Amino acid sequence: MTAFDDLMAHARETAALDNVMTRLGWDQRTMMPHGAAHLRSEELAALETVLHDRRTDPRIGDWLEAAEAPDAAGQAALRELRRSYARNTRVPARLAAELARVTAMGQEIWSQARRDDDVAAFLPVLRQVVALRREEAAALANGGDLYDALMQDYEPGASGAETAAMFDRMRPRLVALREATLARPAPEPLRGTFPQDAQLRIARKLAETFGYDFAHGRLDLTVHPFCAGHGEDVRITTRVVETEPFNCFYSTVHEVGHAAYEQGVDAAHALSPLGRGVSMGVHESQSRIYENQLGRSRAFTGWLFDQMHAEFGPLNLHDADAFYRAVNRVHAGYIRTEADEIHYNLHIMLRFDLERDLLRGELEADDLEDAWNTRFEADFGTPVDRPANGILQDVHWSAGLFGYFPTYTLGNVYAGCLFKAMQADLPELDADLARGDLSAPTGWLRERLQRFGALREPRATIEAACGFTPDEGPLLDYLEAKFGAL
Ligand code: ZN
Repeated sequence: MTAFDDLMAHARETAALDNVMTRLGWDQRTMMPHGAAHLRSEELAALETVLHDRRTDPRIGDWLEAAEAPDAAGQAALRELRRSYARNTRVPARLAAELARVTAMGQEIWSQARRDDDVAAFLPVLRQVVALRREEAAALANGGDLYDALMQDYEPGASGAETAAMFDRMRPRLVALREATLARPAPEPLRGTFPQDAQLRIARKLAETFGYDFAHGRLDLTVHPFCAGHGEDVRITTRVVETEPFNCFYSTVHEVGHAAYEQGVDAAHALSPLGRGVSMGVHESQSRIYENQLGRSRAFTGWLFDQMHAEFGPLNLHDADAFYRAVNRVHAGYIRTEADEIHYNLHIMLRFDLERDLLRGELEADDLEDAWNTRFEADFGTPVDRPANGILQDVHWSAGLFGYFPTYTLGNVYAGCLFKAMQADLPELDADLARGDLSAPTGWLRERLQRFGALREPRATIEAACGFTPDEGPLLDYLEAKFGAL
């Protein structure tokens, strides 16, 4: 055994244990009895201690020094292991375990607080989470920016300043587009009640149509839809509101995009550092292009209109054009996950600014609700009516995920780039989408991007797939063309 082989064998076992941790997290949010929250916190903290010990094992440092990669994939694996080893050796075991314990509790408390519209019930644990993440960021930043230090976990190579500059370039065009769109008469929304069972039948059909492999996954219900797992076991969740079937359908397609990336990585990379999506931004590019550029296109919504008609009978929307307009209705709603493609990015910019201030100590948890409500009214033109529609709507902060939100808009930007390149390569795309045949676009993404996993750095992954340097231009051009014509 060479140092490289020892290192890879060790990393493989760590990845297997990490999968167990992921599955406990999945269980916590889908199947776990409500009363098991304390026990689960202890279990996750215990496993986190084991994982932290493995990830900070001093032998890794020795192996990394001596290892010689046999090929390009080996070099990329060493790059990923060097990054995670440097990250993990800077965080004390006590802090890592405490973070796992408090964020597990935090998610449970958030879930109840959201149901009760009770910010006061959530604040004590939020204060704890913020304090622990600031402490962790300080350990990671080595004197640098605290927010940037946390961003590296989700988007290696990204920075808060660069992100803020990109958001500043995007905001004027998004605001102008939003105003032009809202000035026109609002399209008729879909009305009616759509039973859960029937919605889930369509959701499963959508998942299969977009290439989700149910032999290596499953679909369950949660408050906040997500995708969890890698390789042969990649699970997704969705939610059902009986009066809003698009919520269920597009949440499902979104999570299928994430799952397709994980299910699409070459089997040769399984349990290696390359056997997963390379970053949250690149991940989100997959979920977004499935959900928006493909799933909300005029061509594909024509197919979906027929599916809904077959399942539910006549709708209040009489033809596929009216259906397309309803799917893409632009409105300044409260909820990020229900936002249209224009407002979505404004939701992200709000959260990005608040959490960056929070991490850098320029805003305290106790003042977050006021800051949120003030900013929301300024950006969206209406006051927040209740905390579940405001500060309590997202799980992220309860789970300590600061630095994660901007990767959603980065994903949109990358999806814009990928779609531009895909359209140039697939002249029959609209005809395929109209038939509900997604094999060409999903095959294109698998071949150009998904199968490589973490082989290349995030931006390089997008650049290699597109054939050009990614920026926000293609997304904004796409949005202006689409919503200008609606
Ligand atoms: Zn996503």
